[in-house]
Amino acid sequence: MTSDLERRARLLGPHMTTFYREPVHVVRGQGVWLWDKDGRQYLDCYNNVPHVGHCHPRVVEAICRQAGALNTHTRYVHDMILDYGEALTAKFGHDLDSLVMVCSGSEANDVALRMAQAMTGKTGVIGTDNTYHGNTAAVSQLNSSKVPVGGYQDHVRQVPAPDNMAPVGGSLEGQAEAFARGVEKAVAELDASGHGVSALIVCPYFANEGFPTLERGFLDRAIAAVRKAGGLIIADEVQPGFGRIGSHWWGHERLGFAPDIVTLGKPMGNGHPVAAVVTRPEILTCFQEAFRYFNTFGGNPVSAAAAMAVLQVIEDEALVENACDVGAYAVGLLQELQARHDVIADVRGAGLFFGAELWRDGTPATGLCAAMVDEMRDRGVLLHSVGRHSNTLKVRPPCVFSRENADQLVDVMDAALGAVT
Ligand code: PMP
Repeated sequence: MTSDLERRARLLGPHMTTFYREPVHVVRGQGVWLWDKDGRQYLDCYNNVPHVGHCHPRVVEAICRQAGALNTHTRYVHDMILDYGEALTAKFGHDLDSLVMVCSGSEANDVALRMAQAMTGKTGVIGTDNTYHGNTAAVSQLNSSKVPVGGYQDHVRQVPAPDNMAPVGGSLEGQAEAFARGVEKAVAELDASGHGVSALIVCPYFANEGFPTLERGFLDRAIAAVRKAGGLIIADEVQPGFGRIGSHWWGHERLGFAPDIVTLGKPMGNGHPVAAVVTRPEILTCFQEAFRYFNTFGGNPVSAAAAMAVLQVIEDEALVENACDVGAYAVGLLQELQARHDVIADVRGAGLFFGAELWRDGTPATGLCAAMVDEMRDRGVLLHSVGRHSNTLKVRPPCVFSRENADQLVDVMDAALGAVT
């Protein structure tokens, strides 16, 4: 392993981080399972990219079939992108009828920001102060974990992110109002500085913020402030999208709002690099008139075939329903665990995106959480941490995760908590 890590650092750079004290050298995946190069099997409780399960045979077959027939850039007419575009946009309840296909969530958010600029003629952007939306130069401006070289530009405003344990404004009941006041302040500042507001961009599940529990309507007042100032709403569905949260296909449906632009990525191609921006036709037209946008690989026939197979498998295997059922079951098990382990301060989540926040002696148990992640890895269960203090165990497995898998996860968590506390 050491020589592999040295080789990796030499080739990919010293800061190309790996998960776990003892990184896992994976060679094979199937469903919810991963195998390392020594043949050890792991329960994958973290990977949202293989949304319908690692190496799902129907996705593999669709990729192979299309790769064997044709793959090329996107200046030709091809049925696959059209068939997929129709199938995908049909999944949205309101007038989001057109799309741009790209290759990563970062690109999708970059395009979304430019759509908002084109449509509004303004440049200001509001996000939260504890998030990540991707790695292009423009999108990096929104990331809060690492200040961009040269600092944040004046057109970006970060508002305090919602949180279960340390709510904005000091109380859970008042959190929506307090969040909205942050957005209203940002709107006023952007207007005063001459940038104006082009968009509020949020993950509607606040996934990177630590997936706080939010009631339907949480964003309504904030959204009203942005719309009143002429801005658009971008829902970054890269993490909650495609039914992961169980109750709905999209995070914005769960919160009960209608975004102008939706960005998609990670789970969309089950690991194949495909992503998209879905929006209203007039926004797309305005964007195309303002920018000469072309993406060589975006929506190529193989990517579209992979994405189409994912949509079909979600339907045919009732994976949204599975996420709902298994997620609720697992959260129930975690609540039982909470009754026996004082360090579990909060259990939360929806569908197959849930976890447990760890506190000790009145403070976020960041070190303990890191120790838990490593302990569980050593016991054959892969998960990770998230949140402002990285003290929340985050579970976000492939959506074929079963009740039996949930039993194993929680049994191992029980034993690991006993070992590290
Ligand atoms: N948006 C969110 C909410 C994300 O979590 C991420 C990646 N973690 C991205 C966008 C960027 O996606 P990608 O890595 O595919 O560029």
